[in-house]
Amino acid sequence: MKVLDFAKKNKLLLAVALAYVVLALMAPTRAAGALSNSVYYLKEMVQVLPAIFFLTVVIEVLVPKETIIRSFGEKSGFKGYLLALLLGSISAGPIYAAFPISKTLLNKGASVANVVIILSSWAVVKLPMLANEVKFLGPDFMLVRWVLTVLAIFAMAALTGLLVKNKDLSIEKTSGQSLVIAPEYCIGCSICVKMAPDYYEMQDNKAIVRRLPETAEEAAALEPTVAKCPGKAITLYPEVIRK
Ligand code: SF4
Repeated sequence: MKVLDFAKKNKLLLAVALAYVVLALMAPTRAAGALSNSVYYLKEMVQVLPAIFFLTVVIEVLVPKETIIRSFGEKSGFKGYLLALLLGSISAGPIYAAFPISKTLLNKGASVANVVIILSSWAVVKLPMLANEVKFLGPDFMLVRWVLTVLAIFAMAALTGLLVKNKDLSIEKTSGQSLVIAPEYCIGCSICVKMAPDYYEMQDNKAIVRRLPETAEEAAALEPTVAKCPGKAITLYPEVIRK
C-alpha cells in the first residue's frame, strides 16, 4: 500500500524515471547525456535552494501577512504591479527558485496577478541581465525590449488575475472545508469566538473551527469575522458549499 501511495504522490517523478529507463534501453549514449545534464542541474539546485528556502522562511515568519496583502494583495493596484516588478527584477538565481517564494507570497495574501509579474520579471527582466543586454545589443535595443516586455507582463498578469483566483489555487489546502483557520497566523485574540461562538472556539490559545457554514448565507454572515481577524488567519470558501 505504501508503495502505491508513493507512486500516486510522485507520478511525475516515476514518469521521468521510466523515460530514463526507456531511453537507456533505446539510445544509451543519449541517456548518458541526459543523465549528465540532470546531475548538473541537481548540483545547481543543491547550491541555490538552501538560500531560497531560508528566504521563504524569512517571509513566512518575519513579514506580517498584512504587509504582504497591502503590498501585493488584490487591492494593491498599480503600486502592487510596480513592487512586484521591482522584486522580480532585483532577484537572483534561476526561475525555479522563484516558485517556493511565490507559493509563500500567495499563501500570505499576494494576488495571482502580482505573482505572475514576479515570476515573469524574474525570468526575463532581471537587472544583471539588462546590463549584459546593453553591453552586447546596445541601450536602444534593451530599452525598447524592456518597455514592451514589461507591458506584455502587466497585460498577462491582469488576464491571469481574471482567469485564476487565489481560492482556485488554495482549494486543495482547505480539504474541501468552507471555513479554514491558519493556526500559524492566529494570535489567539479570540475576537472570532466572541463574534461567532457557534462557528469558532479556542483550543490551546488558538482559534479552531467549531462548525462549518453550510449555506451561502451562513458563510456571508461570517465575513465580518474574516475582516476583523487581526492575524488574517481566517479564510472562507463559499464556493465549496455550492459544490
Ligand atoms: S480573530 Fe483571528 S487571530 Fe483572533 S483568535 Fe480568531 S482566528 Fe485567531
